[in-house]
Amino acid sequence: IRTSRIDKLLSSMGYGSRSEIARMAKTGAITLDATKLLDATKHIPIDPDLPTRMKINGEALDPISGMVILMNKPLGTTCSHKETGALVYDLLPKRWNRRNPAISTIGRLDKQTSGLLLLTDDGDLLHRVISPKRHVKKTYRAKLARPLDGTEGDLFASGHLILDGEEKPLAPAELDVISETKALLRVTEGRYHQVRRMFAATGNHVKELHRERLGGLSLPDGMAPGQWTLLSTEEIAMIF
Ligand code: URA
Repeated sequence: IRTSRIDKLLSSMGYGSRSEIARMAKTGAITLDATKLLDATKHIPIDPDLPTRMKINGEALDPISGMVILMNKPLGTTCSHKETGALVYDLLPKRWNRRNPAISTIGRLDKQTSGLLLLTDDGDLLHRVISPKRHVKKTYRAKLARPLDGTEGDLFASGHLILDGEEKPLAPAELDVISETKALLRVTEGRYHQVRRMFAATGNHVKELHRERLGGLSLPDGMAPGQWTLLSTEEIAMIF
């Protein structure tokens, strides 16, 4: 079984610098099975139930690794670590922004797109989800500036549509028309501004865009914009 120094582990989980962790330990704030861990230079075994057995100031430890977060991304937030303004990462607990490996969004949604967004600290999982080879379906609900003309579905399904500035045609996508100016679009790729550019290619303009589903996952009923939840192993498996 893998072991880790307490200060190294907790520092990589964003709980503070190693010296801050050492001080916390000395005050008795870190416990394992209700026993105080006073010396943060000691090693502990990293077993899967550590987060339920270890407490920091009486609170259960965050997941150690392999976390997948499902968020209802609010309009106006950015999927970036670098930009200024409202970031999706600001919606998570502050210390999660100090974790190593870092938590990143699995793909990106535009600033003006809302809906289902996944975030993870698992780089392998991230690459499996965004790989075009996996054909993970993403379902978007689009509100359009102009009425659909009835030709869009066949064009998107054709596998021949080439976006402006690109060479490779888009993989076939499925369109469900809801009304003259509303539609659901299911795509398996994640090219830059893909859905907006697909409708632009038909002479239309996307006014509102919301992601409803990713693979077998959908936003839970009643999850308000900005809310998020940690996925279970079973839920993570529903992506593929
Ligand atoms: N397609 C877009 O154009 N924007 C998104 O945010 C997602 C898909």
